[in-house]
Amino acid sequence: MSGKNVTEVALADAQAIARAARILEQGGLVAIPTETVYGLAARADSAEAVARIYAAKGRPSFNPLIVHVRGAQQAQMFARFPTYAQHLAQTQWPGPLTMVLPRRDGADLAEAVTAGLATVALRSPAHPVMRAVLEAVPFPLAAPSANRSGFISPTRAAHVTTSLDGRIDMVLDDGGACEAGIESTILAIREDNSWEELRAGPLDPQSLDLDFQRHVRASDGSSDGSPGTITAPGQLASHYAPGKPVRLNAREVAQDEFMIGFAGFAGDCNLSLAGDLDEAAAQLYHCLHLAAASPKPKISVAPIPAEGIGRAINDRLRRAAAPVT
Ligand code: AMP
Ligand code: MG
Repeated sequence: MSGKNVTEVALADAQAIARAARILEQGGLVAIPTETVYGLAARADSAEAVARIYAAKGRPSFNPLIVHVRGAQQAQMFARFPTYAQHLAQTQWPGPLTMVLPRRDGADLAEAVTAGLATVALRSPAHPVMRAVLEAVPFPLAAPSANRSGFISPTRAAHVTTSLDGRIDMVLDDGGACEAGIESTILAIREDNSWEELRAGPLDPQSLDLDFQRHVRASDGSSDGSPGTITAPGQLASHYAPGKPVRLNAREVAQDEFMIGFAGFAGDCNLSLAGDLDEAAAQLYHCLHLAAASPKPKISVAPIPAEGIGRAINDRLRRAAAPVT
């Protein structure tokens, strides 16, 4: 299916969603909007289909992929849920939270999805188009962001075609921009209910702290130790790279720079002149795409406070600014 060089871009109505489901069933690749960014989906139970994701993205094969499911019930087929993970699934799904959990023996997932780890990353997204596709197929979907590996993530259908046109079968276009605009928060949860944030995202774990304390006290009084460090392979220093130098915390703009503005610092593209961090997250990749396409050879970005979703914005900006090795 994939490998052909025409990519169908279709408005995500019921017919297009049914066509997407058929393509996925046959092992093809479909870019699907979620509330975070566009995902490049393939059936997670097929080694061939998953291999096509790696090929289309040019992704190093040691990076594990997030498995997207309808909800907790489907997720239980692939992972064991410590009580805290059950609690988070109940309170945060569907939504921009990915949980890395102990993989179940015999889970029907292609090896490349978990890259040989004993854990699996699971998420139940909230976007109605992604949910409709998940309802239309019996298998879960492996879906990294729908862009060439290392480049800027897509929050609009046009961003997907910029980087993957001709390399995938279909793009489901929701006609707008992804609401959160930044990749999901990833929390690893251990069997003893202790947890670790592997990637900052739209859901601030600080907002979960009180819940967590209450929950653990109310349950089995789990150990307070933190056995075993969990690593997140693929969290590379250089990522989201616009292909030109990026200068952060810029309070003035040089003539050869495309300025990305925020709050009191206006630029060529503004994350949020009102200083709203949610709006800034939603605009981040769009501004980076415009900056990449601009004739200006350099990019500068105004200071962004590192609070709430601002932590995730600064994380992505640091990687966008890191030298490509
Ligand atoms: P994305 O590029 O948005 O698909 O995010 C995938 C990222 O999720 C990977 O690069 C890892 O950092 C993380 N991840 C996925 N699966 C696992 C896992 N089993 N253990 C730890 N991190 C994971
Ligand atoms: Mg990505």
